Amino acid sequence: MADGGGHLHVGARDPVRDGVVHQLVRDHFAAFAEQMQEGGRSLPRYVIEEFDAFLRCGVLACGFMRARCPGCGHDRLVAFSCKHRGVCSSCGGRRMSETAARQCDRVLPAVPYRQWVLSLPWELRLPVARDPALLNAVSRVFFEEVRAWLRQAAAGTPTGARREGAAVTYVQRFGGSLNLNPHLHMLVADGVFGCRDDGSTPVFVAAAAPTRDDLRAVIARVIERLQIIERRRAHRAASESCEVNDDGMEGLRRAAGGRGAFARVDDRGARDDASEAADARALAPLRMRSHGLVAEVDGFNLHAGVCVAGDDRDALERLCRYMARPAVASGRVTRLPDGNVAYRVKSPRSAGATHRVMTPMEFMARLAALVPPPRSALVRYQGVLAPNSPWRVAVVPLPPVEERRPCVAAPVPPATPSDGVNARRPQIEATGDSDGRAPTPSSRIEWARLLWRVWGVDALKCPGCGGRMRMIAALTERAGIVRVLEHLGVSTEVPRMRRSRDGP
Ligand SMILES: [Zn+2]
Ligand SMILES: [Zn+2]
Repeated sequence: MADGGGHLHVGARDPVRDGVVHQLVRDHFAAFAEQMQEGGRSLPRYVIEEFDAFLRCGVLACGFMRARCPGCGHDRLVAFSCKHRGVCSSCGGRRMSETAARQCDRVLPAVPYRQWVLSLPWELRLPVARDPALLNAVSRVFFEEVRAWLRQAAAGTPTGARREGAAVTYVQRFGGSLNLNPHLHMLVADGVFGCRDDGSTPVFVAAAAPTRDDLRAVIARVIERLQIIERRRAHRAASESCEVNDDGMEGLRRAAGGRGAFARVDDRGARDDASEAADARALAPLRMRSHGLVAEVDGFNLHAGVCVAGDDRDALERLCRYMARPAVASGRVTRLPDGNVAYRVKSPRSAGATHRVMTPMEFMARLAALVPPPRSALVRYQGVLAPNSPWRVAVVPLPPVEERRPCVAAPVPPATPSDGVNARRPQIEATGDSDGRAPTPSSRIEWARLLWRVWGVDALKCPGCGGRMRMIAALTERAGIVRVLEHLGVSTEVPRMRRSRDGP
């Protein structure tokens, strides 16, 4: 971030943090897409859009909103974010923080939790990565079997009450080395809620810790039920004309599931994301205590060792952050002198290999394969936390009276989060929209959409006085953008993909 003259503040992409991946995508994505096409395959639209949006994410030259602090008059430009879920580690990191904070503030009741992690055998990974319906089925069966175990492990539930579980499941599509490895992290209340239909608040009853044998029994039941589902699906596929998924992604997913090459690489100067390091340090003692609570049956691996006490909300939020982590950690990507790309793996391999080493084309393929298909939910709420559960309202925490991170000692206006959307129409200023049309009612929808693309927490806190800023204008048209940025001496260059005909 840099001050762009006067007290106008410019919030944009951090070039140091995102530089390497951004540069690699600019240099190689177009060639990668062309190469796919020459091979008779094409990338689906959602993948191409993901990479396009990533290049424009956080770049002022691609449009921004203008915020002003009603308290001190501080002015700020906030570039639009892509808000995509695959490649962009900047949006992924913000989503992680916001998701974890929201879970702790608004969703998770104050009870003890246990993390159940289910990894899948090789032959299931590709189908699950491809097919959101199958992923749904695995997630549902997994929750139901853990709940069944909790029901018999939690003694003393009030009689006559339904014993319901509570869980949030995070889908992680990738392992720690850019390898395609869809698996489930399920944060489960470590017990059951006794739920009645008379409107009374559900009562929580804690369960004893599971043993390895309990984990094996849960896996066995999951496998049994998935086999039934699999047989039904195979039967359906045979009766309908078996439709082969041929959108070019199948080969990429197979490649991204492959082992690839590893080597020892010296990446002095590269660094881990500071928040990731802090979370890992804080969670380490929880992992130590849990040592060994893991079981494996027929390639399914179940780990249930990490648990958090009911009053340790700080550890709970860190655990949520860990589970909501984005697939790509851009700080681990290094460009090697020979043009190849190295990705530092989470845990070093045998023979001391520290990095996955890839050609730029393999790196593009792995990035493309990790983009989640549209409409696939990456976070699910289950049991009493399910959106349609009649007991949800009674168990989730009350909304906080104040904002989570209040701006103290500031002349804060009586603003609500929806203030910018409802109370104000965009005021187009001299520096504003190029065509100068008056905003119409339908522009409110546009206004809301634009607001959604700037991240609330960062964008609305006044760097001058700590008060809450208001969005007062949006610039989305080239002429207006250029006029403002040139006035401020900020680059107006829009990042572009390098075509192969552009030469080296
Ligand atoms: Zn982004
Ligand atoms: Zn201010």
